[in-house]
Amino acid sequence: MKVLVINSGSSSIKFQLLEMEGEHVMATGLVERIGEKFGRISGSMHPGSADQTAIEKEVMIPDHKSGMEMVGNVLCDEQSGVVRSRREIGLVGHRVVHGGEVFHQPTVIDTTVIEAIKENIPLAPLHNPANLDGIEVAMELFPAIAQVAVFDTAFHQTIPQRAHIYALPYELYERHRVRRYGFHGTSHKFVAGECSRLMGRELSETNLITIHLGNGCSMSAVEQGRSIDTSLGMTPLEGLVMGTRSGDVDPAIHSFLERAAGMNLTQIDAMLNKDSGLKGICGFNDMRDIHAAVAEGDERARLALEVQTYRNKKYIGAYMAVLGRVDALVFTAGIGENDPLVRQKTLAGLDHLGVELDYEKNSRRFTSPGTLHTGGSRVQIWVIPTNEELAIARESLSVLEDENH
Ligand code: AMP
Repeated sequence: MKVLVINSGSSSIKFQLLEMEGEHVMATGLVERIGEKFGRISGSMHPGSADQTAIEKEVMIPDHKSGMEMVGNVLCDEQSGVVRSRREIGLVGHRVVHGGEVFHQPTVIDTTVIEAIKENIPLAPLHNPANLDGIEVAMELFPAIAQVAVFDTAFHQTIPQRAHIYALPYELYERHRVRRYGFHGTSHKFVAGECSRLMGRELSETNLITIHLGNGCSMSAVEQGRSIDTSLGMTPLEGLVMGTRSGDVDPAIHSFLERAAGMNLTQIDAMLNKDSGLKGICGFNDMRDIHAAVAEGDERARLALEVQTYRNKKYIGAYMAVLGRVDALVFTAGIGENDPLVRQKTLAGLDHLGVELDYEKNSRRFTSPGTLHTGGSRVQIWVIPTNEELAIARESLSVLEDENH
């Protein structure tokens, strides 16, 4: 079956068409600058094969509906397309950021599901409306095809109360659903599943710490296949040091800044999300720029690297305590897959906890799964490239198959 995966943002639509028999990518691309003066669609048909064709067009794209129509048209284009008609596509899988406490699984979309996603808008005011736009136009354009929502929060719904309730007045949870939800769930679940498979073990018998280090960063404690703690919280701001997001800070900093710097809450919120993290410390949010700056003797860039990797280490220690027995650590995403120095600094000094890094194995980038541990390491160390599109396609297909049985 051919599955179309859609990740609809406020001004963009990322798409990928996968043939699930053999799990290969038929087409991949991005519609961007929707609603702006000059929009753009770009991508690749039959990527990685001898027939690979690039597409690129600058054209005004007034709204998500016309953006999605363009996706349908490039896929079916007589010359460069990969299918003859939209009817060849069997299923559409949508990434949805916030499923709140309602969605524990990927779910076939109907009007009730759309209403429930709408009810979660206050929890993700930027993301859920954009995701809904994508769903609604895809339902119009592909009316005969099942559509499945795959939630970024769903994998973490197994986290017990002791780990997801904040020590705040309990009414805030009851009235406003203030609690930790966690994100990047599709990625954590995917690499956890791949890791246990590659280790030759049942997921239900394996304890893992999954470490997603990209522009956004998060870590999860995965016990026997279930997320039991994760570093992102009610919003994707808590926990690790990210590209532009602060991760953990003392909540009293907000009122201090109001008094000392005359900032209001909107300004503080924007600062914590857009001007903090690595960028806040040294001015660069991309790890490649940080390495280049360190090589030129930039002390702040060096400090940013120290602060991020120290925080990573601290969370690994915490999750080792939470899990008791840990079978493997799994690095993934842009930094996790490509940055030997971040991995090395993150794991430095963990030998006494049974985590022994093989420096030689660690010294490269990974485009496919590989291990980093020494022969004597009690805990295995893996790098497993994440593949959210494939994960969404797999999850969407499995929910449809479950429904049909
Ligand atoms: P992601 O959010 O998973 O796409 O990761 C994006 C981030 O990965 C970028 O902002 C960089 O910080 C980082 N990254 C990508 N390639 C490399 C590389 N070769 N070395 C170090 N960091 C990288």
